[in-house]
Amino acid sequence: MNTIGHLINGEVVIEGNRGQDVFNPATGEVTKTVDLASKRTVEDAIAAAQAAFPAWRDTPPIKRARVMFRFKELLEEHAEKIAALIGEEHGKISHDALGELQRGIENVEYACGAPELLKGEHSRNVGPNIDSWSEFQPLGVVAGITPFNFPAMVPLWMFPMALVCGNCFVLKPSERDPSSTLYIAQLLLEAGLPSGVMNVVNGDKEAVDTLLHDGRIQAVSFVGSTPIAEYIYSTATANGKRCQALGGAKNHAIVMPDADMDNAVNQLLGAAFGSSGERCMALSVAVAVGDAAADALIGKMSEAMAGLKVGAYTDNRNDFGPVITRAHQEKVVGYINSAEEQGAEVVVDGRNPQVDGYESGFFVGGTLIDNVTPDMLSYREEIFGPVLQVVRVQTMQQAMELINAHEYGNGTCIFTRDGEAARYFSDHIQVGMVGINVPLPVPVAYHSFGGWKRSLFGDLHAYGPDAVRFYTRRKTITQRWPSAGVREGVEFSMPTMK
Ligand code: NAD
Repeated sequence: MNTIGHLINGEVVIEGNRGQDVFNPATGEVTKTVDLASKRTVEDAIAAAQAAFPAWRDTPPIKRARVMFRFKELLEEHAEKIAALIGEEHGKISHDALGELQRGIENVEYACGAPELLKGEHSRNVGPNIDSWSEFQPLGVVAGITPFNFPAMVPLWMFPMALVCGNCFVLKPSERDPSSTLYIAQLLLEAGLPSGVMNVVNGDKEAVDTLLHDGRIQAVSFVGSTPIAEYIYSTATANGKRCQALGGAKNHAIVMPDADMDNAVNQLLGAAFGSSGERCMALSVAVAVGDAAADALIGKMSEAMAGLKVGAYTDNRNDFGPVITRAHQEKVVGYINSAEEQGAEVVVDGRNPQVDGYESGFFVGGTLIDNVTPDMLSYREEIFGPVLQVVRVQTMQQAMELINAHEYGNGTCIFTRDGEAARYFSDHIQVGMVGINVPLPVPVAYHSFGGWKRSLFGDLHAYGPDAVRFYTRRKTITQRWPSAGVREGVEFSMPTMK
């Protein structure tokens, strides 16, 4: 059986001591094994990155950017292969995998602007014959730890920007679907990146903990579930590292009585069920304002859901695929059961979907639940499955209070035709990414991505302008070149320009 290894100093390495099964979630079969890195192997990766750092740091930004230009072309050239690797291990349909890759490529495009992004800040004559400027210098070796649900896009949020800023990188992808990530890292070498600048270690807690405790790692970017994000943030910062840790979500859409209901239903369908709801920006709760809006939403949504197609990644006519593992399938079904037991109404039931030819796959069909209340377990926790819950409220204020009270604050959206209401909503909602009639307000690559509250631990968001700040350290230089023969007098008070 194919074993997926690590990429260290430009070579694929397999330890062969500990391994974990990798499944095809559509068939339920084990198709590969992923090698789980020991502390020693992770240390080898860190050492390779450390050794590569001096030369890479001194490589002109334009040359670092040129690697990214070539890398972008290779990603486009091999897009179908990458989408197939994602499909085999994650299960997402090819059109969706290509979409995720495209969003990742857009981060590479942004990274191609490194020379402009790293120009720094300059002030002439801050005092007599004195100039001052700030430079943004690389940190050294930085690490990324990524989740299963975007094996291409989320790593691409991190390493292109870290690398063009002059850092070397050690990436620990999800052990559940590691192949596409490893392949993408290999394309970097083909694009001309020197060996050791980018390293990949597959593994579990042992690999992560090694990264968190090793003094050579300067910064850690993490994306995953909230309990692990919190652990990563507290451990990394306690060890003196810079850290950004993006966590889980519970994204609400407010459906106002004046919303274009057909449009809202179409938008919600894709945002709730696309990628089987396994997106941190998935809209998993619709808050309908007024019973008329709620009844219309439930009626039109159930009708539309009759046409949802769930199946294997190979058939592009499918809307979404299986969830990642059998255990996760059981967890999602458990949340649906609990909502029902706690008094909600399962209007469209996806607990036993029929997927011909894939009877052992980890499928959950699209599920719609009405009359969900904030005390229910299925409302409080992230389900991460193709389940849309409807909460009924009477006013927009109540809808906003509900969202603001939730522990997560990743994304949200309002469907309305009322500009004043939309503006009030975006001003006062306690969420990091807000959509106005846009269901998945994932910022484009030249903005930055991040939630509020327990959806993000740390100060800087992912990718975009925040990534330049996260992956560099500011140094401010103040320089005086007095005219020949001029001597400055002694000055004991604080220098000012008064
Ligand atoms: P996860 O937290 O289980 O795993 C993420 C990473 O952490 C993986 O690389 C994993 O190997 C590692 N990990 C897991 N348990 C660990 C432990 N005990 N100690 C150290 N490392 C550990 O997340 P997942 O299931 O792969 O991904 C889904 C989650 O990620 C969801 O909660 C989703 O909302 C979240 N997510 C968030 C964003 C965002 O931008 N906020 C984006 C994508 C996914």
